Amino acid sequence: MREWIRKNVITPLASTNKIRLILLVILAICFAYYMVELFDREEGFEKLGRPEPGDWCYTHKESKQSFWGYVASKPNRPVEGKRTLYFQPVGPFNQHEDMVMKKAVTFAGLYFQLPTRIDKSLPLPEKGWSRQGEAGGRKWIQYKTAYFLNELLPKQIPEDAYAYLAITMADLYPDETWNYVFGQASLHRRVGVFSLSRYFPEFDGQKSTTKTEQRALLRTMQVITHELGHMFGISHCQKWKCNMNGSNSLIEADETPLFLCPDCLKKLQWNIGFDTITRYEMIEKFLREEKFVEEADCFKMRIKRLRQ
Ligand SMILES: [Zn+2]
Ligand SMILES: [Zn+2]
Repeated sequence: MREWIRKNVITPLASTNKIRLILLVILAICFAYYMVELFDREEGFEKLGRPEPGDWCYTHKESKQSFWGYVASKPNRPVEGKRTLYFQPVGPFNQHEDMVMKKAVTFAGLYFQLPTRIDKSLPLPEKGWSRQGEAGGRKWIQYKTAYFLNELLPKQIPEDAYAYLAITMADLYPDETWNYVFGQASLHRRVGVFSLSRYFPEFDGQKSTTKTEQRALLRTMQVITHELGHMFGISHCQKWKCNMNGSNSLIEADETPLFLCPDCLKKLQWNIGFDTITRYEMIEKFLREEKFVEEADCFKMRIKRLRQ
């Protein structure tokens, strides 16, 4: 009889308790997740949605970088005597392109609160570092990023440079498997290269207007600050809509905001040690002067929030 009870009553009772315990644990996990989501919000910032096919996060499975993971990675930091962001124009720029480049460099100085310098222009390589790009019946020359990252820049990086970045109107490619790339950087060597060519409608055989000129400047400011963010050791942001989001296309890049999310800002502030409100005020002033009203308002809202 005792044996019967153990088999048919006690065992089912024990397994019912086990199921209840498992359900309780699942409920507790769901509740904890809900609470984290509920409080992990910041006014004015939006979380990244579920990645769609074609999005950067859909095609690139990158590991997440927490603040403490960032600190532990011992990123490069500007030190006394090595704080200047150097920009090296390579190849021809017309008057408007030159103005866009110079304004974007000024913006980068405010964004990182570091001194900037634009060096005297250098020519593009003559042979061996290029191929022919082709699309829609048009043909143009593309240059391999390895020329800038391995040949040109490391040999002449200035003593006081935190980073030395080539800017060109020529189209770039990283290797034969890619159609093109907007920019590439080598953290170890503290050098990088960006192409502005695709930010201007002339690349697609169209004429530029006041609106496209503004858009080209916004895109240039975004790519320079994004790539420089990598040079401070910040990985792609996978949580918020943020300047450090990766982008697979110009459409995705255009959806990327100019500001850093709270997580990425915390990393940059730790690295450089700037005063966050002063930085926001300087950026807002610049954006307003350049008539980027919407973007300036975002920074104004952040200043207001930090002062509360
Ligand atoms: Zn990136
Ligand atoms: Zn971020």
